[in-house]
Amino acid sequence: MNQETHNQYEKKLLILRSEIEDYLRKSEDSAAAVEPDNGLGRLSRMEAMQDQQMVLELRRRKKRQLSDVVNALKRIEQGNYGVCIFCGKEISSERLDAFPEVQTCVVCA
Ligand SMILES: [Zn+2]
Repeated sequence: MNQETHNQYEKKLLILRSEIEDYLRKSEDSAAAVEPDNGLGRLSRMEAMQDQQMVLELRRRKKRQLSDVVNALKRIEQGNYGVCIFCGKEISSERLDAFPEVQTCVVCA
């Protein structure tokens, strides 16, 4: 992978990182516990709790993705970005374009 391609992925990853951080900041409130006495009826409280579960699950996934993005940025710095951590082969550019934070090739994923 040449320097220019490296830079392109680095830019993508930086954008991705700020998007995820943004989401995590904004969703903090919805992820907070649903207060038992916040004036909502029983039904809407159940709905609020379901929403909360969804937000929590999404936040879990985003946090995992964020650590992958941070790792990928580290690997760019170290110069081994785009190489599968298991088999050492280059990860296809199609795959990196879709998921710039991946660390494994399709075969090892
Ligand atoms: Zn592999």
